Amino acid sequence: MKRFLVLVLLLLSPLHAADAPWQVGLATVRITPTQPVLMYGYANRTEPHQGVAGDLYAKALALQDPEGNRAVIVTCDLGGVHGDMIDRIATRLGRSHQLPRHAVLYNASHTHAGPWAWVAKEETKGIAKPAVAATREYVVQLEKMLEQVAVDALSKMSPANLSWGLGMAPFVMNRRQFTDKGIILGFNPKGPVDRSVLVLRADDPQGRLRMVLMGVACHCTCTGGKNFQINGDYAGYAQAALQAKYPGVQAMFMAGCGGDANPWPRGEIAQAEQHGATLAAEVARVLAEKLTPIRPPLRTALQNVALPLAPPAPRAELEKMTKSSSSWERYIGGRHLALLARGLQPPTSFPMPVALWQFGTDFTLVGLSGEPVNDYVHLIENAIGPTRLWVAGYCNDVFGYVPTARILAEGGYESRGIDRGDAVGIFTPQAEKEIVAAVKNLAQQTGRAIR
Ligand SMILES: [Zn+2]
Repeated sequence: MKRFLVLVLLLLSPLHAADAPWQVGLATVRITPTQPVLMYGYANRTEPHQGVAGDLYAKALALQDPEGNRAVIVTCDLGGVHGDMIDRIATRLGRSHQLPRHAVLYNASHTHAGPWAWVAKEETKGIAKPAVAATREYVVQLEKMLEQVAVDALSKMSPANLSWGLGMAPFVMNRRQFTDKGIILGFNPKGPVDRSVLVLRADDPQGRLRMVLMGVACHCTCTGGKNFQINGDYAGYAQAALQAKYPGVQAMFMAGCGGDANPWPRGEIAQAEQHGATLAAEVARVLAEKLTPIRPPLRTALQNVALPLAPPAPRAELEKMTKSSSSWERYIGGRHLALLARGLQPPTSFPMPVALWQFGTDFTLVGLSGEPVNDYVHLIENAIGPTRLWVAGYCNDVFGYVPTARILAEGGYESRGIDRGDAVGIFTPQAEKEIVAAVKNLAQQTGRAIR
């Protein structure tokens, strides 16, 4: 009888393995700065941070399918991640864990109440040296922590099921306010936004929740430029609220195509807490529903898209720009003149990483980099089909806004282009086509059924 039982168990075990086809590894590291660092996102903040209202974390989700394909997502409570740092980390992970570059994805929540995650020389002008030095020291530590959290997750994989669903975030507001004096950063309830909330969950084979990844397409700018208290903004408060509600569960946040969306209302830490609570409640509501299972295999892909930059204006025009009423025009004019003075021409394109992860036939995660505006969700839906899809932004490199042809034609803050080293300039309307073509190519390459 005993032998029979063992035989039955042996026969059943492959079925159990099929019940939980994924291997999942989780890890968290606190990345709150301990030194006085400069804060991301508002040029007026030339003084270091003055306290911590909420800790910041980086959290890793390592995945393995039954074929042995492995990949890791790391979500970071940071304003941005720099492509050079992420490439260095991915190279080391490739060496230590045989992970291809396309199987590594870092996402920044875009909190404007966090530290600089790199030090751009152009931005250090007029800032006291000790603050810059402390920030540099933090960035070195950050790189180690962002790598280690991925290593930790990859080292403790166990069987799991994945499933996903969608909710809705009511506080996501289009911020491009049309006025008689042009487009300002404000409040536009008639403007388009992506209010969807991605909910991706991992359960152990017994059905117990282990991890929830939520995605929202909205700036983490509740507290604005007068705030000097470190916090994760609504994304950080939502993660904390979910982890309090589900003890032992890892809650992660991934930013979507919210380049032109701000939370509403905003201005105070209390509003970051309020929107965080709203988001956590919505994610909990979705978690209580029956979500759609995600089956293997996992196919990951990454392509660097050369985003075309408009050629610089003629010298006389640049001189005129340096006297413009627009501070950005003054800045671009000055930067282009400085390049010309060094005998250099600004580059004609900028390499934008575009990632696509295909989970069986059940789910596609598109990971755009930079700060894409919400139009990209619809453009990508039109190109590869609207179902079984979530489109993230702020992945692998946060270099500035990624406008569409519409935004470029209208103007406003999100049309301002790029400022990264010697790559300074405005993207052309063709940029949108290059991005969508790359996503379509990656979708075909990874086997997404394009409907
Ligand atoms: Zn932004």
